[in-house]
Amino acid sequence: MIDRLYGGGELSREEYAYLIRNRGDDSARYLFSLAAKARERYYGNKIYIRGLIEFTNYCKNDCFYCGIRRSNKNADRYRLEVSEILDCCKEGFELGFRTFVLQGGEDGYFNDERLCRIVREIKRLCPGCAVTLSVGEKSRGSYQAYFDAGADRYLLRHETADVRHYEKLHPKELSAENRLRCLHDLKEIGYQVGTGFMVGSPYQTADELAMDMMFIKAFQPHMVGIGPFVPHHDTPFGNEKAGTLELTLFMLGLVRLTLPAALLPATTALGTIDPEGREKGVLAGANVVMPNLSPPSVRKKYQLYDNKICTGCESAQSVDDLRKRMSRIGYDVVVDRGDAVSISKN
Ligand code: SAH
Repeated sequence: MIDRLYGGGELSREEYAYLIRNRGDDSARYLFSLAAKARERYYGNKIYIRGLIEFTNYCKNDCFYCGIRRSNKNADRYRLEVSEILDCCKEGFELGFRTFVLQGGEDGYFNDERLCRIVREIKRLCPGCAVTLSVGEKSRGSYQAYFDAGADRYLLRHETADVRHYEKLHPKELSAENRLRCLHDLKEIGYQVGTGFMVGSPYQTADELAMDMMFIKAFQPHMVGIGPFVPHHDTPFGNEKAGTLELTLFMLGLVRLTLPAALLPATTALGTIDPEGREKGVLAGANVVMPNLSPPSVRKKYQLYDNKICTGCESAQSVDDLRKRMSRIGYDVVVDRGDAVSISKN
């Protein structure tokens, strides 16, 4: 089955579930070797970096897994000034970043006008860079406004492709249906779209993961963000088990073979559960790393989950260290927008 996937063939939902359920060291090793080849075909040994700016942790939503949910009264809330956001970008530009990812909770303070102004300013101050937004569910009109202001990409994880599972992870005012509506709007507008899911979230089995793979295959996103679920102590899932490194890596490999040209980050959550999580992610098929460019004073406050790494080699200022770590395993961190290959000139 892994060979069939590598050869461009399709797997059924049952076959994905079978592979996931019956995985072991040998199948994982084989999967990763083919995933590396598939990525090399499209991206060589290049690793793209994105400067992540977590610009607000105010959120009107109440997702059961997330540490910045509105019911978490212990969250120390902050929002960056527009000028602070722009300073982060300027600093990042000097460091070689050519993509900035603005991520935050769904914070009404950042209305369309404000967000559009930020996007326009970043594009003006950092010529040739790409701007990625990750600010949740909005109306089509809002997405269009950000796009017209110059936003290039949008990250919105579908979280789980199983509607009943979605309902177990979210309060009832949030629906899988609206999440999908957003994803389709984003694609139609012309964004490079990233979606994705958590690995090991409560109630998830191999069947849900197989549905995620089928969704990704059908939706054909340009990017796929996957990372382990990690509990946050002040959420309803505070006592649940975290997703494992091993399963997350396996899923990364499967995504790489399913969408060989996708941009796949080795996520912060992966780096959080293992000190070499990001290197391992790259070796399993990832080709993007997103160091944190937020001001050090707020990094600890953007606590989606416990023990999130936010200092040392995780931070953007240590991009040289990241470069060394990647070169040690045979990869080059490049100064590039890093568009999805199906989109760029060639
Ligand atoms: N408000 C934005 C950004 C959300 S945070 C949005 O709705 O898209 C980005 C991602 O972090 C989420 O999509 C979710 O998949 C992930 N996340 C949230 N809580 C998490 C947790 N406890 N463990 C692991 N990942 C988590």
